[in-house]
Amino acid sequence: MISVIGAGFAGVEAAWAIASRGQRVRLFEMRPNVKTPAHETNLFAELVCSNSFKSKSPASPAGLLKAEMQCLGSLVLEVAYRHTVPGGEALAVDRTQFSEEITRILQDHPLIETSREEVTDPAPLLKEGPVILATGPLTSPALSKRLAEWTGRSHLYFYDAVAPTVTADSLDRSIIFARSRYDKGEGDDYLNCPFNKEEYEAFVSALVSAERAPIHAFEAGGRRNGNSGEQESEFLEKIKYFSGCSPIEAIAEKGVRSLAFGNFKPVGLTDPRTGRWPYAVLQLRPENRERTMYSLVACQTRLKWGEQKRVLQMVPGLENAEFVRYGVIHRNTFVDAPRVLNSNLELKGHAGLFLSGQLTGVEGYVESAAIGILSGLFALNPSLAPPPRASAYGSLLAHLQDESDREFAPMNINWGLLPDPAEPVRDKSKKREIKLENAHRSFGEWFASVCVE
Ligand SMILES: Cc1cc2nc3c(=O)[nH]c(=O)nc-3n(C[C@H](O)[C@H](O)[C@H](O)COP(=O)(O)OP(=O)(O)OC[C@H]3O[C@@H](n4cnc5c(N)ncnc54)[C@H](O)[C@@H]3O)c2cc1C
Repeated sequence: MISVIGAGFAGVEAAWAIASRGQRVRLFEMRPNVKTPAHETNLFAELVCSNSFKSKSPASPAGLLKAEMQCLGSLVLEVAYRHTVPGGEALAVDRTQFSEEITRILQDHPLIETSREEVTDPAPLLKEGPVILATGPLTSPALSKRLAEWTGRSHLYFYDAVAPTVTADSLDRSIIFARSRYDKGEGDDYLNCPFNKEEYEAFVSALVSAERAPIHAFEAGGRRNGNSGEQESEFLEKIKYFSGCSPIEAIAEKGVRSLAFGNFKPVGLTDPRTGRWPYAVLQLRPENRERTMYSLVACQTRLKWGEQKRVLQMVPGLENAEFVRYGVIHRNTFVDAPRVLNSNLELKGHAGLFLSGQLTGVEGYVESAAIGILSGLFALNPSLAPPPRASAYGSLLAHLQDESDREFAPMNINWGLLPDPAEPVRDKSKKREIKLENAHRSFGEWFASVCVE
């Protein structure tokens, strides 16, 4: 018997993938007996915030991932398409009807036994068969504790403090220069965006006055009606404690030069155009082995996404930057996947224990559901060949497996994750077309060869 813990997006897909291939599953969900700070219903696959499953366009990375999920028999998408509401290009759903139908289907399935129970230790279940841990960003504290013991505390995160990421293609290399501080390390490890005094001061002024994302009460002190100023400082204290960083807007508020003396210090970074150190420097670090994406070093931020784009595009060299991930600072439980997971999502050193959904380090309803299906397939056959690198699935897995020197952080599917064509292509839309073609072809070949239907 296979056990799935957590009936969120990943858990329902995993249970469905297994049961619809003829195997028995036990699905555990702790709600309503134990609540999370964000879920409000007793339903499976609850949408805790927006009601959108991102773009329907087959020419977008989210559309590509959805097409691959449909090939593998996604329940979430099948039900979502039955409960759509107008959402433009996005697949938007009636959240209650959607989750009610998912819950009904799983509860009525003859091969699925559902149990409203918090699992605090998966070890006894492992004796009966594979276990899939799909307890999500708000995994209950007792189970998080167990997971921390298994992964090592430093490989389990409780907060996300992520800096924005941009595509390599969109950087202005006539301004940005490659250089490591005092020329230590590989010359092109870091890219540098040089500010002069006027540019820097204009940037800081925009940064401190930009609009910030609201803090959920549970992320700070846990009081639902607290004073917002107090909540903000409690939240920032927690972030500092858990991830050792403060958002750049909070640092900038302390004084106009505080970033130039700290996160943006220019020492040892000679600009080849002037032969001098700039007034301040924002550094960019490769986000993946292929260097198709760069993250903005030490730029954790809580600005609203539109504001991040507006303000960060004031940085010299980032005027046309394409953001594939915005900075976020929020509660989120996830593991350091490149260090603790095998390529089949099994926890290293714990045969039969698979992680799934957002816990693995993907982000969002669709990505978590996608990994849910795959974890179900791996639980059925741990030696199943993983989807190919060029596919959307393969790109998510490559993110989870990329051991390059970076701070691992959760990611949505995006263009930067899909690998570049073998031959360089300058035209952006042509390049994307080739990425899509490669993804379709390779996923089709994999699907035909592994017979996962
Ligand atoms: C406040 C907030 C807002 C968000 N907004 C968005 C958004 O707008 N769009 C978007 O795409 N994504 C959003 N996300 C992320 C999204 O919720 C996740 O990507 C997705 O739900 C993850 O799926 P999952 O199956 O991994 O986890 P979940 O969907 O969270 O499911 C995990 C399930 O496990 C259960 N559980 C936890 N611990 C135990 C245990 N010990 N025993 C038994 N059951 C347990 C939980 O009750 C829950 O039902 C948001 C997340 C949060 C926290």
